[in-house]
Amino acid sequence: MSVGSGTVSFQTVRETNLGVVLRTVRELAPCSRAAVASATGLNKTTVSSLVADLMARGLVRETGRASQPRVGRPGVLLALDDSSIAAIGLEVNVDYLAVVAVDLLQRELVSRHVPFDARSAGAEACVRHIARTLGDTMADPALSGRTVVGVSVAVPALIDSPSGTVTHAPNLGWRNVPLRDRLSELLHEAGVRGVPVQVDNDANLGAVAEYRVGSFAGTADLAYLTGEIGIGAGLLAGGELLRGASGFAGEVGHLSVLPDGPECACGRRGCLETLAGIGAILREAVPDRIPDHPLSGDDVAALVEAAVERAGSGDAAAVGALERAGTWLGRGLAALINVTNPDLVVLGGYFVPMGPWLLPNCRAEAVASAFAPDAGGCRVELSSLGLSAAARGGATAMIHSLDAGLLPLPGPRDTEGPVASPAPDTA
Ligand SMILES: [Zn+2]
Repeated sequence: MSVGSGTVSFQTVRETNLGVVLRTVRELAPCSRAAVASATGLNKTTVSSLVADLMARGLVRETGRASQPRVGRPGVLLALDDSSIAAIGLEVNVDYLAVVAVDLLQRELVSRHVPFDARSAGAEACVRHIARTLGDTMADPALSGRTVVGVSVAVPALIDSPSGTVTHAPNLGWRNVPLRDRLSELLHEAGVRGVPVQVDNDANLGAVAEYRVGSFAGTADLAYLTGEIGIGAGLLAGGELLRGASGFAGEVGHLSVLPDGPECACGRRGCLETLAGIGAILREAVPDRIPDHPLSGDDVAALVEAAVERAGSGDAAAVGALERAGTWLGRGLAALINVTNPDLVVLGGYFVPMGPWLLPNCRAEAVASAFAPDAGGCRVELSSLGLSAAARGGATAMIHSLDAGLLPLPGPRDTEGPVASPAPDTA
């Protein structure tokens, strides 16, 4: 699935056919040129020419011969070349950046968690930090000699996908930040040229990651919930992201669940995230540890650890806080289940370590409050992708865009590609 329409769309028949052959080799590998021709309906000469082109670009390689050909000489087999390109996903959160780079086979090359107080830093300093972090990642030895085909940035925000602008990120305090253009500018200044940048909502990319590489991969009707200071949902229906008319579908954190409840960062009262967001949970679970300043930076990870430790040792306040949050979460999920009827809801982020105390009440309340018997069979499970789900989803989505012809293919290996491990210089 595409992560936005801010990408170059390739028009020529040849480029479309390169994508078709690339996808076919991914599906059938190891496979012969004849098998690709048969599967695509393209003639063998055309397939041979397209395969030669993909090999020159470092996307396909020969991998030996079929062992027992029925007729004639054994055919040379093809597979994807996992050594030439990389795609990078970066996730901005209130208190950290997560970065994941993957190869053409979606295998993880780099995974980093960078503590960073994004809320206090402000938008411009944060974008500069993102550019530096991307530069560091591109300079990582694991990416040495690889062409970076695209960068995806996930933000807990309403996003205008066509322009890559962050329209509103209440928990970061951002409004109308032209993230894609500013980041492209900084990367260009640092010598990183021609790498497409896409910007998307963190929950959407978390859902993409769960669908493509998580423990429940292949579940086409699922919701992924971010477990951060804010709560967002990425919704997949039939394997496609449900974005809505103007892109803000899935803002479950701002479902009103308690009239006249606590004040929310959005300015309203009683939103789900004021009762089941990580900040709200921590204020009840470890009240003595809450600093005077707004929760941000390194606070959150340390406080989550403390809350989980206390709950684990049977501390009544901590256990009660987590269990109540589970009930509120279940109530919010019931509304989501009533509207979208998912097979599966995956709880991500900091909900994962809190899962043993959140899940029982969450599941019970979802079943009790949803209209359909047994919540329509919807399961509620914990993510296996930890705090880098959205980054992983972004990197995954870039590879998928490459296959789908929504990203430019890298140039032939003997000419200059879009980028080759630039030195980070974006300070
Ligand atoms: Zn709200």
